[in-house]
Amino acid sequence: MRDVAVLAGVSTATVSHVINQTRRTTRETRERVEVAIRQLGFVPNAAGRALAMRKNGVGATHAFKLGNGNGRAVFEAEETAPAQAQTLTAAVGASRMILRLVRAAQPIPRVEIARRLGVNRSTVTEVVKPLLAEGILREEQEVLPTGVARTSGRPPVALSFGDLKEFFVGVSLGVRHTTVGLATLAGERFGEEEFETPPEPQEALARMRASVKRLCAKVPGRELKVIGVSVPGPTDATRGRMVYAPHLGWRGVDVAQALSVKPCGVEGGAPVPVVVENDATAAALYEARLRLGNGSEAPNANFALVRSGTGIGVGLVLGGEVYRGTGGGEGLAGEFGHMTIVAGGKQCRCGNRGCWEMYASASAASSLYAGDRVQLGGQTPPRFVEIVARAEGGELRARRTLERLGEYLGIGIANVITGLGVSRVIVSGRLVYGWKFIKGPLQEAVGQSMAGRISGWSVEPGEPTGAGLGGAVEVAADEFLARVVGR
Ligand SMILES: [Zn+2]
Repeated sequence: MRDVAVLAGVSTATVSHVINQTRRTTRETRERVEVAIRQLGFVPNAAGRALAMRKNGVGATHAFKLGNGNGRAVFEAEETAPAQAQTLTAAVGASRMILRLVRAAQPIPRVEIARRLGVNRSTVTEVVKPLLAEGILREEQEVLPTGVARTSGRPPVALSFGDLKEFFVGVSLGVRHTTVGLATLAGERFGEEEFETPPEPQEALARMRASVKRLCAKVPGRELKVIGVSVPGPTDATRGRMVYAPHLGWRGVDVAQALSVKPCGVEGGAPVPVVVENDATAAALYEARLRLGNGSEAPNANFALVRSGTGIGVGLVLGGEVYRGTGGGEGLAGEFGHMTIVAGGKQCRCGNRGCWEMYASASAASSLYAGDRVQLGGQTPPRFVEIVARAEGGELRARRTLERLGEYLGIGIANVITGLGVSRVIVSGRLVYGWKFIKGPLQEAVGQSMAGRISGWSVEPGEPTGAGLGGAVEVAADEFLARVVGR
């Protein structure tokens, strides 16, 4: 919302009033805000969104289509390879994929699930039967849009998640801001809090914990099942600790332990599981689910996600599962932000010079804009969304900045494509706000590289929300599904 306000040149309160229609605003202000919203692809948050959808008679299930999964089981089975383990893994994998597809594309008929996943209808029935009996899934007649007549035959029934009392929490720990939000598997999102990330990890964790408890207290009678946290750095193999966050200067932070809470609304009981995930991997989960839901991606998708914000991180989806690395390197995969792009270039926080994120992250845009001068006549250089706004307004310097950033981004993406042998790349984070200026030079840089020689490579923009709370909620939701399958 802050970004919308900057682009529209109004306060965040005004943006809020325009969205919620809580105060009369001039037509000009309203239009500026609406244009900014469209340019930024901004989705009004939780309450506003849910309200808008109910108002329009659209099922809340469409509010939140995301996700993907935990690759560990599959990769372990491939490495150790006893036939029995593989069969079991395949069965668990099929169940999880069915649930993911239901969540991503709900409401969805059984026959459609079987077709999309290439499995028998009987397999789908076997998996969903107990879940229907328990009320986790429900099967209802599909509602046709008004005015559309059913042509023939029995009305098809479609699967969706039931209105469970269970819910999960996403915590997006950003370098500048932290967001906490609640969601259900049916796609409903309710309650959201945001605050500036405190410089000290213990204070930040205490605020997150307080925020989780406060939000949970607002939904009595519901049970918190999983907390998913996205963090700006690599995690350890257990997905409980953040190993290092260069932009925050934090090392070895035990996030899971600090956020451990008892389920609210339940007497006693075990602490709620906390899953900590690198933010680029979380964004990759989000994009995989989004694309699975709209049918633009096969369940066994392969792509690399480049998340560009304050830094750059890369998430990997291989065969429909996120890949985090293996052995001692688990949790480290995708740390491309610190590969050298310019020899002897700008000094990076990591100690190296010329790192990719010093040239192609959203925050690098400010120094690219300022050029070799440290400051513009004593002024602080504009931030990324301001540069986009200036470029939209026709300012040449701003346009050139975004074009150069696009070129640097393309050089790094070409390295990612060539190094990993993955031909599809999705770009996520606030960088996508300036996509129309970045796209051309980016494509050109990739085209000139070795990556450009392979056929069918593509680089496309993702959703900014996946890089924030959307990704964090996704981490929790996917863990939730894994636990439904594994119980
Ligand atoms: Zn670096």
